[in-house]
Amino acid sequence: MTFEGLSYTHTPHDRAGNRRDDQEWVEAQSARPDARVVPMWRDRCLVRDGRPVVLNGAAGAAVRAAAGQTVLLGLADGAPVFAADLDGPEEAALSSAEAESSADMRSLAALLPHAEAATLAYARGLLYWHRQTRFCGSCGSAARSTAAGHLRECTGPDCARQLFPRIEPAVIVLVEAPGPEPRCLLARHRGARADRFALIAGFVEIGESLEGAVRREVAEEAGVDVGEVAYRGSQAWPFPAGLMVGFGAQAVGETIAVDGEELVEARWFTRAEVRERLAAGPGSGPVDSIGGHLLRAWAGER
Ligand SMILES: [Zn+2]
Repeated sequence: MTFEGLSYTHTPHDRAGNRRDDQEWVEAQSARPDARVVPMWRDRCLVRDGRPVVLNGAAGAAVRAAAGQTVLLGLADGAPVFAADLDGPEEAALSSAEAESSADMRSLAALLPHAEAATLAYARGLLYWHRQTRFCGSCGSAARSTAAGHLRECTGPDCARQLFPRIEPAVIVLVEAPGPEPRCLLARHRGARADRFALIAGFVEIGESLEGAVRREVAEEAGVDVGEVAYRGSQAWPFPAGLMVGFGAQAVGETIAVDGEELVEARWFTRAEVRERLAAGPGSGPVDSIGGHLLRAWAGER
């Protein structure tokens, strides 16, 4: 299932995955006058006139030269698009990028076309991975960027380990109650507002399938056993390194027993109640997340 308008997920790029290793080709893309550059500063977008800055020409080349890390995101409409991490002081980053301020990417997403928000999220996630992967975890030597920023290689002569970008998959699930009346499970997380109920979600553990993670999270957090688990769609969630995988699941019983740790309350909501909550505002999780799409689809709003 593809959710229309799902944020951060549909980048407009040809990621050029089979050409990144060709150093000559990558250098030729860098030298192109139509190359575009998305500058970022410590996971934040650089903003001018209320919009994220994208540079080209001499300004783009200058920002790439000033950046601690540059990556090739891919080709958009045939033109190369780079992201550049200006990792020094904020003032220097703003000056390099000819920007007025920095802003959290997600705070801008609602104002941007989906493709642009997806590009910024992709840039943020890949640059974050570089900053977190400066050294080899095996031997501690420095790791250097290669393959147009899609691989790092350990510089230890006896190691030379290859470090690929890592993502952290998480599941999010809409659990339906048994019985003829459609009801779904929403939970209030510790620290959330008193009226904020959201779907159950959690990270996939090592040695676990996605479906296994769904069953475990629902049982652990809400004390609910589920039968059938069905995949519904996925969403890039590079904040900082996630992949959200959405599921629907059928509970085998109605009894709920929250863990009191992650969840403080959970209950079954009818379609009418969910519609009311959705109409009242973002009381059901972030509006840009696949969780909201799952809930709206279930409530019949899309
Ligand atoms: Zn190493």
